[in-house]
Amino acid sequence: MTHPKLKPMPLSQPVELSPKPSLIGLTREEMGAALKEKGVADKQIKMRVSQLWNWIYVRGVSDFDAMVNVSKDMREMLKTHFTVARPEIVEEQVSNDGTRKWLLRFPPRGAGRPVEIEAVYIPEEGRGTLCISSQVGCSLTCSFCHTGTQRLVRNLTAEEILSQLLLARDRLGDFPDREAPQGTVMPAEGRKVSNVVMMGMGEPLYNFDSVKTALLIASDGDGLSLSKRRITLSTSGVVPEIYRTGDEIGVMLAISLHAVRDDLRDMLVPINKKYPLKELMDACRAYPGLSNARRITFEYVMLKGVNDSLEDAKGLIQLLKGIPAKINLIPFNPWPGTNYQCSEWEQIEKFADFINSAGYASPIRTPRGRDILAACGQLKSESERMRKTERLAFEAMMIANHGED
Ligand code: SAH
Ligand code: SF4
Repeated sequence: MTHPKLKPMPLSQPVELSPKPSLIGLTREEMGAALKEKGVADKQIKMRVSQLWNWIYVRGVSDFDAMVNVSKDMREMLKTHFTVARPEIVEEQVSNDGTRKWLLRFPPRGAGRPVEIEAVYIPEEGRGTLCISSQVGCSLTCSFCHTGTQRLVRNLTAEEILSQLLLARDRLGDFPDREAPQGTVMPAEGRKVSNVVMMGMGEPLYNFDSVKTALLIASDGDGLSLSKRRITLSTSGVVPEIYRTGDEIGVMLAISLHAVRDDLRDMLVPINKKYPLKELMDACRAYPGLSNARRITFEYVMLKGVNDSLEDAKGLIQLLKGIPAKINLIPFNPWPGTNYQCSEWEQIEKFADFINSAGYASPIRTPRGRDILAACGQLKSESERMRKTERLAFEAMMIANHGED
């Protein structure tokens, strides 16, 4: 089946196999040290870092030549030793509903081969959310998740995590005018990418240091300046790093809960064997700054006959007692070879009604970008180069599960 509305876009430059080190994803201190190492005088470093920071994160330039207030000699030096280039866009797809999906290729870091990951942009009324990845593959094996069937290839670097955001802004025309005066800051309103969720491939808390650096740069007030309230990190429940996230990053938290009893969660989200529900809930209760305006999101995938009974809904309310919480019901997105099915729509609504009547908002996450396989748990699946027959069977299954628009 073809999708006439999918628009192939011009691709970017192919990835270099041995790229220069990037200035993207370095803290200010690291950037200063990198400049010092290349002979920039101590007394200039602060000023140079601040210029570079503005060009890279406020104006989004990906070429040193565009940095017109940096002297020509300095630009030549920067070009010789560093890069601020974007990853290669292998494919860009635009869905009927405006959702965009990018397949990006990053150069090898040290030994190894180039890697590919996906990022997804979901436009909504008055806002737009970018879903980014933290790892290539995942070392965890949640039984309903397609990423969980793909082995972990490697962690993404802070540069690669941030590059997903920079590239999305490039492609959406979301950077301010490059001619704007020096010192320009990113406007808080009217951005296309107003929110970021770490809900792509991988377990972000198994790549804590890079995720921390990337998110602190994304929320830096002199750069991309995304409010921490508009960044959500989703975890399957790596308890020690949940505490660290609260203390060291301070973004919003989402927990992939999916079951309210340990025996079932052990099967669906096997990290539960290491960090069972009691420990997970204690970490959630201790998350700093929680209030009615700052709640934890609990993600709950609706699996037919597995976790979708009203008993489960009741258990969910009991489990979350005392925690400022939002519940996000996610219709299961099937993938080839899975044994699970999505709950009947009627059952999802009954479940949601029960939760609503207990006083919780429980939006049902409507599948977006279905025609380009942009939904949770499907990222990168398609780029695993499914054979055509497999893909046709998959598309038929998707339509059977959700009905056409
Ligand atoms: N590893 C992190 C973040 C990535 S997954 C985590 O597990 O939280 C983002 C969300 O999509 C998680 O809640 C995950 O459980 C859910 N998900 C994974 N596969 C899915 C599928 N096939 N259908 C619906 N949701 C899925
Ligand atoms: Fe990894 Fe999250 Fe998928 Fe589990 S749900 S396998 S943690 S990506």
